[in-house]
Amino acid sequence: MKIALIAHDRKKDNLVQIAIAYQHIFAEHDLFATGTTGLRISEATGLPVTRFRSGPLGGDQQIGAMIANNEMDMVFFFRDPLTAQPHEPDVTALVRLCDLYSVPLATNMGTAEILLKGLEEGLVDWRLIQERRE
Ligand code: PGA
Repeated sequence: MKIALIAHDRKKDNLVQIAIAYQHIFAEHDLFATGTTGLRISEATGLPVTRFRSGPLGGDQQIGAMIANNEMDMVFFFRDPLTAQPHEPDVTALVRLCDLYSVPLATNMGTAEILLKGLEEGLVDWRLIQERRE
């Protein structure tokens, strides 16, 4: 699966903690990230991460383009709910695209753990379910 990792500055530590704790699961997938988040995660875990631009410089939109092209399977997007972001429109657009294309999206550690446990158990099969419905 292709997995996107994005965290606003005050949430980066949380996402790094998740990446370390579930490194064995992330290691089985292709990881993509915005610039600084990707650097933090690859430094902390040693896992290969394809890095896009930093979020405020268009990285969220690059990941959004992958979603629109059906090239992203899961998104971990730890937003900071207490700090205004200069690229708020991009943040909203990314969440919207996840909803539009039914891409599983975790915006906090609690949901992230549930998705990762689902991945570990092979439970996250939403594309197959969607294909069966069409
Ligand atoms: P960053 O971008 O990983 O480059 O910090 C994340 C964001 O702020 O959207």
